[in-house]
Amino acid sequence: MTGTTFASLGLAGELSNACLAAGYTDPSPIQVEAIPPLLRGQDLLGLAPTGSGKTAAFALPLLQRLAAGRQHTPRRVRVLVLVPTRELAAQVGEVFRSLGAASAHPPKVAVLYGGVSVNPQMMNLRGGADVVVATPGRLLDLLERNALRLDAVESLVLDEADRLLDLGFSAERERVLAVLPAQRQNLLFSATFPPEVQALADTLLHDAVRVEAATQAGAEPVIVQRVIAVDARRRTELLQHLVKQGGWRRVLVFVATRYASEHVAQKLYDRGIYAAPLHGDMSQGARTEVLENFKDGRWDLLVTTDLAARGIDIPGLEVVVNYDLPRSPNDYVHRIGRTGRAGASGVAVSFASAATEAHFRLIEKRQNMTLPREQVAGFEPVEAEPVARPEAGVGGIKGKRPSKKDKLRAAAAKGAPS
Ligand code: AMP
Repeated sequence: MTGTTFASLGLAGELSNACLAAGYTDPSPIQVEAIPPLLRGQDLLGLAPTGSGKTAAFALPLLQRLAAGRQHTPRRVRVLVLVPTRELAAQVGEVFRSLGAASAHPPKVAVLYGGVSVNPQMMNLRGGADVVVATPGRLLDLLERNALRLDAVESLVLDEADRLLDLGFSAERERVLAVLPAQRQNLLFSATFPPEVQALADTLLHDAVRVEAATQAGAEPVIVQRVIAVDARRRTELLQHLVKQGGWRRVLVFVATRYASEHVAQKLYDRGIYAAPLHGDMSQGARTEVLENFKDGRWDLLVTTDLAARGIDIPGLEVVVNYDLPRSPNDYVHRIGRTGRAGASGVAVSFASAATEAHFRLIEKRQNMTLPREQVAGFEPVEAEPVARPEAGVGGIKGKRPSKKDKLRAAAAKGAPS
């Protein structure tokens, strides 16, 4: 509850109504802070995780500025949003479309991402677009094919800038910026704020307002964080036990590799849990279908890698499980932020084994927290801290470098994934 309405922030009637229609009764804190300066055309630095309502925080004022501008024929790209993943591109594009639908001149929104045929996206760009939401690689590809021009862009948004940088965006950035007009509004959103993001903000933003969303859209989220000590090889069994015992129906499970995503999902499915994998080796069509089916409740549990899950918005997610711990402490925040969205409460469960306990302590240190280690009856860990080079000699033949199979066997002996 902020006591502020969308209209009092300066939004036109049709946009305030679109918010109500979307079920946003009150603006979230980041919306309250971001909308007025963005309407004035200011630059903005947003420290905001997905789940804070940040997409609407920038889509609403940019839509209003679009509507205020002259109508061009053909349409000219006036808003460009760069995002790290396909899923986020689709999601952000949908927010622009739905919030802009009631306008007298609904904007044409083009969503561009790789992994699917370029032709429909090229066709869709004929006649121009008002808003382009794109992943950098596909955008550059389409620019090279002269499928769009960006010389009329008025507002540039870098969404999830930290992850854009992780994906090597620096190399692509100069090429995109080179074709944009120098005079423009710049917005940068990031869930975390490492030095590279600060450096990007320094070069990109001018007199930017800084907004920070500590809380989720709607109300204060309640995310209960649990750490369960368990032997690595018993994690799948424990997960099955927890899902069944807790009656969990909307669970996102993070694993480290695409292989683990397939393997763990299959194991759980074989044990009677509606679990499906989600990872970057799947076709875009398959990923979209799995996500839709998960959102519709046809799957109860998705086993995913960080990249595939980045930024996706799953309303009502009950539980996030760190089956494998995230490598980066920052990713821990991203992951657990999937649950407890928009005021709903959620649970984040991390499995810590003898081999990963030290790493979890590092995550705790970085996050400035200490969580108790739980044990679940029947799953008490028996493994000790690993001795040096645990994989050495497991399954290998003396004098021969271990084969892929040997490495897999070694991994299985270590228990990953069970
Ligand atoms: P985002 O941070 O943009 O990924 O938004 C997270 C979720 O919050 C989405 O499901 C939005 O539909 C929802 N949301 C955005 N703004 C509000 C609001 N003012 N009130 C309630 N929910 C919102």
